[in-house]
Amino acid sequence: MPLFDYAPAPESRSIVSLAPSYGLFIDGEFTEAKGTFKTINPADEEVLAEVALAAPEDVDRAVAAARRAFESWSALPGSERAKYLFRIARILQERAREFAVLESLDNGKPIKESRDVDLPLVAAHFFYYAGWADKLKYAGLGPDPRPLGVAGQVIPWNFPLLMLAWKIAPALATGNTVVLKPAETTPLSALFFADVCRQADLPPGVVNIVTGAGDTGRYLVEHPDVNKVAFTGSTEVGRQIARSVAGTGKKLTLELGGKAANIVFDDAPIDQAVEGIVNGIFFNQGHVCCAGSRLLVQESIASPLLEALKRRMSTLRVGDPLDKNTDIGAINSKAQLDRITELAGVGSDEGAERWSPPCELPDRGFWFAPTIFTGVTQAHRIAREEIFGPVLSVLTFRTPAEAVEKANNTPYGLSAGIWSDKGSRILAVADQLRAGVVWANTFNKFDPTSPFGGYKESGYGREGGRHGLEAYLA
Ligand code: NAP
Ligand code: MG
Repeated sequence: MPLFDYAPAPESRSIVSLAPSYGLFIDGEFTEAKGTFKTINPADEEVLAEVALAAPEDVDRAVAAARRAFESWSALPGSERAKYLFRIARILQERAREFAVLESLDNGKPIKESRDVDLPLVAAHFFYYAGWADKLKYAGLGPDPRPLGVAGQVIPWNFPLLMLAWKIAPALATGNTVVLKPAETTPLSALFFADVCRQADLPPGVVNIVTGAGDTGRYLVEHPDVNKVAFTGSTEVGRQIARSVAGTGKKLTLELGGKAANIVFDDAPIDQAVEGIVNGIFFNQGHVCCAGSRLLVQESIASPLLEALKRRMSTLRVGDPLDKNTDIGAINSKAQLDRITELAGVGSDEGAERWSPPCELPDRGFWFAPTIFTGVTQAHRIAREEIFGPVLSVLTFRTPAEAVEKANNTPYGLSAGIWSDKGSRILAVADQLRAGVVWANTFNKFDPTSPFGGYKESGYGREGGRHGLEAYLA
């Protein structure tokens, strides 16, 4: 039994005023579409709003608006484009609480995270790329790098506004115009962002938001008048996009899945490592492409580490995303919950040992208790496939060489973590890991100045930092 209980500490949702329905944001105006769909709050299945479903002709209109806007937008001096980006960043900061509550409502993530992680990073991204807008010729990409034209951008539901920022900020800084499709289950923060663009007096057509399902995304990336495609999502859809873009001359970046190894050596400080493991896999319900979903622990410390991990997991609070004390919110959709449930079932069937702390899950909405599997081997599906939920697979190793071999034994290569007291060991191991990002004695740390992206089936191209400019310039 816990020593004490927390009183409810709900964040008020009154700061967000939702309209019953939203149109598409094209050429600086909200416009209607023939079809609509509903977006729900995954914590209680309540309908939040009705949203326009963009058909091919709507995507055509959006791309045409972006094309018209490109001429004047790309001709603006970088210092002028920077002013708009700075303005957007400041408005997002001013409206941060509203956006944080909105994001938690539509996505199910804890307010603690949308407030303290997503929104600060979103604003930081716009501030950072605003700073680059007038310095592009010093970016190491030639004396006069030029924008590509219209960027078609498709993003997932796990960090709706943050993924929008990763895509839109560098595109605008470099003089491109944008048509962006948010995920079907989380369209609202992108539509509120459209309002921020209007507030910032961004010229019409520079940013266009088309909501819809997978077909809308497909039509956008296949549109002949799009010059650049940026996609974040599943490897399967990424593959389809790579095929459809091949030979068209469109520039492409893909940020896909991951199955990161979080490696804990016997000299690691156990309590800090446990915090890092928890942050690595339970942050954002594990809906993180770079999540530390495979724990590789040195055999000699496996039992004390797992004991400490289970103790820590027992204190995680699962429930109302708007409660300020919630650690784990709702799973974003029924479909994702089914996928997690299925793969966790496979883990048990294949003989791994499943454990979750006792925790009461709400009756309505989509929920999954934090779960670990021990006794997992490389052959298990839960060691190979991305679960994209609060499920950790634990494997052991004896030597650093074995740790490296197991860590790299995956079709993915997005991120990894190393926990050790020895700097030399960290450097030696990091050097051998085939992963785009390697964290040492920490995990899931993000910064707009740092490039992010993968190897192998995790995709190609980098977002963030100076490297992130390259994807939008020729
Ligand atoms: P997804 O299907 O790849 O969706 C990502 C985005 O692409 C969404 O906006 C989606 O629209 C759109 N889309 C779907 N089909 C498309 C197509 N043929 N052409 C262009 N765009 C298309 O990912 P998901 O279904 O949300 O999640 C499935 C799995 O992907 C997860 O379980 C996880 O393993 C992985 N995932 C990875 C990341 C990441 O950050 N790397 C993020 C999310 C998911 P709709 O939303 O309307 O389907
Ligand atoms: Mg939703």
